[in-house]
Amino acid sequence: MTEADGAAGKPRSHGRLAVSASLQPRELMTATSRLKGAWCARLVTLFPEAFPGTLGLSLTGKALAEGLWALETIDLRGFGIGRHRNVDDSPAGGGAGMVLRADVVGAALDQAAIGTPPDRADWPVVYLSPRGRPFDQAMARAWAEAQGITLLCGRFEGVDQRVLDHYAVEEVSLGDFVLTGGEIAAQAMLDAVVRLLPGVLGNAASTEEESHSHGLLEHPQYTRPAIWEGREIPAVLTSGNHAAVAKWRRAEAERLTRERRPDLWARRDA
Ligand code: SAH
Repeated sequence: MTEADGAAGKPRSHGRLAVSASLQPRELMTATSRLKGAWCARLVTLFPEAFPGTLGLSLTGKALAEGLWALETIDLRGFGIGRHRNVDDSPAGGGAGMVLRADVVGAALDQAAIGTPPDRADWPVVYLSPRGRPFDQAMARAWAEAQGITLLCGRFEGVDQRVLDHYAVEEVSLGDFVLTGGEIAAQAMLDAVVRLLPGVLGNAASTEEESHSHGLLEHPQYTRPAIWEGREIPAVLTSGNHAAVAKWRRAEAERLTRERRPDLWARRDA
């Protein structure tokens, strides 16, 4: 769907929309996009049918149905050129593959910008790209503080550089590997952001204690049964001594971070 009703100047409210539990994921998207004021993700993509994808499941899906956030897709194909709606062409200078055209992507980004605040801190405009700044929890937190975000999903060899320069689009990477398209990267990043929005997780404290919230990895977790395959839960966890539990968890988090992520350990903030 291409409706762009914008959240500019609107207060961050999280009004609920009555939607039937029988709505299919794609119907949820169009229903919630009518809701003003909720945190909004706008996806520019050749494959709108990829959304909401896994974001339609579990906590993120429930939050989408409740209107705690909204998802709008803008179909790149709709801005294609000519009878065949061409969106790509061969790379200038030669070489393999195809490049998404600046005029096509530019028109889609114009549509995505309707009603959004001009300050990129309030509404980041991001191209999913293996050349980008690596996505992390701090970025997820910053994006969750904004009113919404526009995510441009590339395909083929990527997009014409001029459109990235012209719109001052920020490039962000899911990691040091190459995907065939930006859609999975967009879903991964949106999942990380949406779970930080107010009301999405049942237990707000769980976003403060988990991995990467204080520059440390999380301590190991255990649950019943008390003994499994001869392995016991560490005794301190069943001791009922909360101070001892907290101390053990902290020590384990530090041990795991030191062992597995010396890079995080070197720049930890807590
Ligand atoms: N030729 C490009 C890769 C294109 S991959 C290069 O070498 O840099 C096709 C699309 O997949 C990209 O336009 C981008 O939107 C997406 N993509 C691929 N890898 C990604 C990653 N690590 N993070 C985010 N998006 C990625």
